[in-house]
Amino acid sequence: MAHLPAHAHPRSAVPELTRAALDGFAEAVGADHVLVGAACDEYADPYSFLGPETVRPSAVVLPGSVVDVQAVVRVAARHGVPLWPVSRGKNLGYGGAAPRVPGSAVVDLRRMDRIVEVNDELGYVVVEPGVTFLALAGHLRDIGSALMPSVPEIGWGSVLGNTLERGIGYTAHGDHSAFQCGMEVVLADGTVVRTGMGAKTGSEAFALFKGGYGPSIDGLFFQSNLGIVTRLGIWLMPRPESIAVCMVTAPEEDALAGLVEAIRPLLLDGTVQSTVVVANAVTIASMVSVRSDWYDGDGPMPDQVIDAITDRLHIGRWNAKFALYGPAPLVEARLEVIRAAIPEAELTVTTYAGDVNPADVHPADQVQLGIPSTDLIRMAAWSGGAPAHTDFSLVCPPTGHDAVRQMRIIRDRVEARGFDYSGVFIMNPRHAISLAPIPFDGNDPDRCRQVAGLVPELIAAASAAGYASYRSHTAFMDLVADQYDANDSALRRTVERIKEALDPQGILAAGKQGIWPRTS
Ligand code: ADP
Repeated sequence: MAHLPAHAHPRSAVPELTRAALDGFAEAVGADHVLVGAACDEYADPYSFLGPETVRPSAVVLPGSVVDVQAVVRVAARHGVPLWPVSRGKNLGYGGAAPRVPGSAVVDLRRMDRIVEVNDELGYVVVEPGVTFLALAGHLRDIGSALMPSVPEIGWGSVLGNTLERGIGYTAHGDHSAFQCGMEVVLADGTVVRTGMGAKTGSEAFALFKGGYGPSIDGLFFQSNLGIVTRLGIWLMPRPESIAVCMVTAPEEDALAGLVEAIRPLLLDGTVQSTVVVANAVTIASMVSVRSDWYDGDGPMPDQVIDAITDRLHIGRWNAKFALYGPAPLVEARLEVIRAAIPEAELTVTTYAGDVNPADVHPADQVQLGIPSTDLIRMAAWSGGAPAHTDFSLVCPPTGHDAVRQMRIIRDRVEARGFDYSGVFIMNPRHAISLAPIPFDGNDPDRCRQVAGLVPELIAAASAAGYASYRSHTAFMDLVADQYDANDSALRRTVERIKEALDPQGILAAGKQGIWPRTS
């Protein structure tokens, strides 16, 4: 079971569902697949910093099919039970599997774990919600597929759930939501909708053409509470003949702007195919060590300690990692362009055959090769005590000026509350995600209070500078939504109108991304 902070919500305060509602769920999915009481503890946020405000579900329902999901939403509507759907419920750092509303039932989709189709010829897979990155990568290898998945840092989460949340990977398909095509969704009234070409009976193009005919509605179901997604098509890249993993280590603390400026043109013209992850020394140290290995004092680590880290780990103050893929001569040609753009002393290149045995890949290069692992969760243990972390992220134009501006907004406030500054920029050709992982001791009430105070402060400071988050912990979903305020929050009001039309009783994921039903 996940570790719960000592101060988490006492279970006695969790509202109980009526017998009739629980019987309804048991009839829908089988009594064995309805959890109540202590079994729900695992669905609380294991990294909560909210103390008594931590919400736990009142029940967990595990459907095994689309028909089960339809039955579950109908039971919920009949008995007025709020539902909170999750795929694997891993969403760690952003609230885990916990709902926003007390008295909710989590709909855990892990039993729906079929890889429905692997199409090597046309480069896609179709998956159900329960399929993890580890399972997909293992399956593709087992069947000798010609396709390579893109994976996030930690492979235990759902491919479908991560894609819906606009998660990030590190291959040429690392912008996961951009490579979705085709979706099956159960609406609050039990209607099953297939989007795009899936709307045409008998079409073989479900996962091939995003458009279909007329308005495209797939976007409505990303980070959304308008439906429960039960199937997703995802484009995968062919496993390339050759892969070159490139690391650029910039020794100086003020190197960030130069690094971002050097890399952006290479992304924009397609020389660099993967997302580029630029991480500071503390971030890398937190992946391979704990803070007390380096420093025991309170407050942010002094500069000399970070110098010791860079010396010992042979890294820079800022480090950029990316990969090149394709036939060997094309990879070589791309490398030539990169060597001309990056100082030789700062560039390290490791080349792998596309079909390399995963055991022969350096652990730090795995995500660039689409090999999932769970090793990187160790960063949550950086501060000692009960491992916990939350992540703060902003959408950033991929320019040196913006990267430095955001870094300063985040760094000043993180350090003022006594945390070490971990900084990561994940660059795409036209946007970057500026990410600050914030590891903390989940058993230390003072550190938890500092996290709870820090994140709203970061949101407000970033907003004043014209920036906003693309994703947030459930606790801050309303506050982040407030920042998207143009034209009297017209976007949010429009989505609320759609919510009212599709889910008038407000059954599904109330409060998700700051969208509430009118009934609440
Ligand atoms: P992962 O296991 O990848 O960490 P989760 O299952 O925790 O992902 O999903 C993250 C969030 O995405 C959930 O809290 C929920 O809001 C949303 N979500 C996940 N799966 C679905 C789904 N099948 N339909 C609708 N929303 C979903």
